[in-house]
Amino acid sequence: MDTPSHLVIIGSGPAAWTAAIYASRALLSPTILAGEQSGGQLMFTTDVENYPGFELGIKGPDLMAVMRKQAERFGTKVIEKDAVKIERERELFKIFYGQAQENFAKSIIIATGAVANTLKLPGEDRLMGRGVGTCAVCDAPFYKEKDTVFVIGGGDSAMEEAIALAKFAHHVVILVRSDTIRASGIMKERIKRIQNIEIWYKSQTKEFKGNQKLESVVIDRDGKVDKFPADGVFYAIGHTPATEFLKNSGIDIDDKGYIKTYIDYGYGSLPQRAHDSRLTTHGSQQSAFFPTMTNIPGIFAAGDCVDPRYRQAVVAAGGGCMAALDAEKWIQEQVSRLAG
Ligand code: NDP
Repeated sequence: MDTPSHLVIIGSGPAAWTAAIYASRALLSPTILAGEQSGGQLMFTTDVENYPGFELGIKGPDLMAVMRKQAERFGTKVIEKDAVKIERERELFKIFYGQAQENFAKSIIIATGAVANTLKLPGEDRLMGRGVGTCAVCDAPFYKEKDTVFVIGGGDSAMEEAIALAKFAHHVVILVRSDTIRASGIMKERIKRIQNIEIWYKSQTKEFKGNQKLESVVIDRDGKVDKFPADGVFYAIGHTPATEFLKNSGIDIDDKGYIKTYIDYGYGSLPQRAHDSRLTTHGSQQSAFFPTMTNIPGIFAAGDCVDPRYRQAVVAAGGGCMAALDAEKWIQEQVSRLAG
């Protein structure tokens, strides 16, 4: 067996790189399994104007590149392969990646993110980031004084995105596929009070049109198909956390695929754990409480794969920092326990 890493980090978005920066500066010599398409969701965005420290904004891919360089500067080893499975092997974890390769680690941080669901409509690939988007809360200020922006979806996220956009655009239309919206009562009430938001029921988006940027959207409105001028269209039809590879790992995951840790995002999905005492026990010794730990001691998680609520790069980065500090402390505890 190769010498085990202290820490393997899985993912390559803001949570993963921040965890790697902290862990490498703590001399944990982390290995990061960055995936074959390194960089996460920010690779598909253009300008990021809400990440602190960049007065004039920064391109999503540039932000990821600079975070990676910062992590590598302190000794993070980067492997551009996808993790495919995690298994326990005595005191260690075995992480399988790529084609039958494996890495042993004392501890793992999972920061694989989540992908915004989209409908894969005609024109979508070409116009993504050019009028078609998946995070209106991030991009709303770009729609200042624009005429019409559409939001697809009828859940709380769609309401939140519409509210964010309505502060900037003249007219916001929420496209709901059925004749009801599933958003919570409080969000529905809020929407009703905002004059420039309209809801179109029984409305299904069919196509995005435009060359260099979005110009119009084709919508089937209760059986009648029309083309409507549009400055922007945002998807808000849910997210899918990239946690499929963890099935059979024993890690607690909720019914939507989010990894459960002890951080409460307020949606009633705190872990129901076999050992749920808020303190993990190792023999007779009780260790500290680790908010970012999963139900498996030594495995931590951070970023959008645990967070159904905020889904912001800066929150993910903060989560990555927390997970790295927790992992460092947990590894120290294990070393002292074995020595003592
Ligand atoms: P939800 O799963 O709650 O809603 C998804 C919406 O997308 C539904 O209206 C659904 O329609 C629609 N949809 C799904 N597939 C399609 C499709 N193919 N075409 C058109 N529409 C489609 O996801 P959210 O992201 O809104 O919310 C996720 C969780 O986060 C929820 O628990 C929510 O309450 C919570 N949340 C809370 C917030 C808050 O309290 N401030 C803010 C944001 C999220 P249909 O209803 O017909 O299935």
